[in-house]
Amino acid sequence: MIQRVLKTPWFDYPQFSWNKKDAIVIGGGIAGCQSAWHLLQTGWKVTLIERHHQLATEASGNKAGAVFPKMTAKPSLGEDFYTQSFRYLLKQLDQLKALGQFPHYDLCGVLQLAHNQREEKRWASLQQRLFDHHFLECLTNDETQQKSGIETPYKSIFFPQGGWIDPASFCRVLVDSAHCNILFNQSILQLKQQQQQWCVRDAKRKVIAKAALVIIANGKDLQQFKHTQYLPMMPVLGQTTEAIASRLSKKLKCIIGHKGYLTPAINECHIFGATFERNKYCALIDKKSDKINQEQLYQYLPEFSNALGKIQSSHAAIRVTTPDRFPYVGAVINQQQYQQNYADLHQGKYWKTYPVAQYQHGLFVLAGLGSRGLTTSGYCASKLVEIINGKQSNGKIIQSLHLGRFVIKQLKMNHFKKKK
Ligand SMILES: Cc1cc2nc3c(=O)[nH]c(=O)nc-3n(C[C@H](O)[C@H](O)[C@H](O)COP(=O)(O)OP(=O)(O)OC[C@H]3O[C@@H](n4cnc5c(N)ncnc54)[C@H](O)[C@@H]3O)c2cc1C
Repeated sequence: MIQRVLKTPWFDYPQFSWNKKDAIVIGGGIAGCQSAWHLLQTGWKVTLIERHHQLATEASGNKAGAVFPKMTAKPSLGEDFYTQSFRYLLKQLDQLKALGQFPHYDLCGVLQLAHNQREEKRWASLQQRLFDHHFLECLTNDETQQKSGIETPYKSIFFPQGGWIDPASFCRVLVDSAHCNILFNQSILQLKQQQQQWCVRDAKRKVIAKAALVIIANGKDLQQFKHTQYLPMMPVLGQTTEAIASRLSKKLKCIIGHKGYLTPAINECHIFGATFERNKYCALIDKKSDKINQEQLYQYLPEFSNALGKIQSSHAAIRVTTPDRFPYVGAVINQQQYQQNYADLHQGKYWKTYPVAQYQHGLFVLAGLGSRGLTTSGYCASKLVEIINGKQSNGKIIQSLHLGRFVIKQLKMNHFKKKK
């Protein structure tokens, strides 16, 4: 039996049991590939379905993304989530390296510039917290310059173990297994449960695959299925720019974070950006966005910006974030049961009077990874697969990722009652 840790039966998971360990994962971005890898590690067979002809073409299609934890001035649940995710990623990369199957990446360090008053305050608070210098260092202006190898007028927070990763190569490594069948050019439009199996169909209603379990990891299209339409999400369009490195720009030794981020030279080019446009649903590359990225770089690192060569390419995609910025990781809830059983939560009754949560058996989600999916997707997938395998029932982080959290929040506020 799983021990109940917190007094929140609406967030508890049962010990799911499976007659057959076969799964379908919808989406070949980092969320889908991490989900597949974690299932494969625990003996599942996986069919991964991607609508494009290759992996990592949408949000995970950037040539290199920064990996480092997001720190808050004071300890917080958010910081806990990011630091645990970051440590998990480092462990996973070591594990892959030991197997000789690793992605294109470099843990060259990440410098987060204290480029405005808010960042300076954060710098001062983090300095007080005396972190292990292998994890985080607060650097002066001179130290920042030395560490980065380029001119910069700011103090910074340095993550020596941070760096960059090529998401497409990461995705390919994660699903490189004889037990993972990848179906490209297949767009799933319908999910139906039939005799304890999930059946997924395309636009012509043709059955593409069947399995006991489905993980929906379809990025910006999360709400396309009726089962997941209740999950609030915010699309944010972003573009990164790739420009040719120069003799001077090659002096940059690590990732620099300001309002956006900038990589050291990778294959003779630097990648920088990204733009941030809310509520845009169409991801088309546009020259205006490259200009915004160039101007932003000039604002914080003028010398470096002047030294950069021509723009080589750009990548635009939509990342999806949630109202509280935590991703969605877990089982799809049984909405009817939630509305019936927890309707009077606002009355503050004793928690033991409520039944435990019920779910759509065999249907799970990993989505809403926002701007940090490369750092957090592995940890999220590990938690998801623990839930699937009956090894995880509850806990503060699990709750903060739970797919029923906004429904519960609304019920606590008596939202649905007022509507009637
Ligand atoms: C410009 C930009 C810069 C970024 N920089 C960083 C960074 O520096 N560091 C960092 O950690 N994160 C960064 N991110 C965020 C990170 O890239 C995302 O969090 C992550 O890629 C999301 O992965 P995903 O798998 O959820 O989504 P996606 O990569 O979009 O994958 C979803 C996949 O599902 C497929 N799909 C959707 N619907 C269906 C269907 N019905 N049938 C079949 N297939 C389907 C899509 O084709 C797609 O391949 C950045 C994002 C952007 C856009």
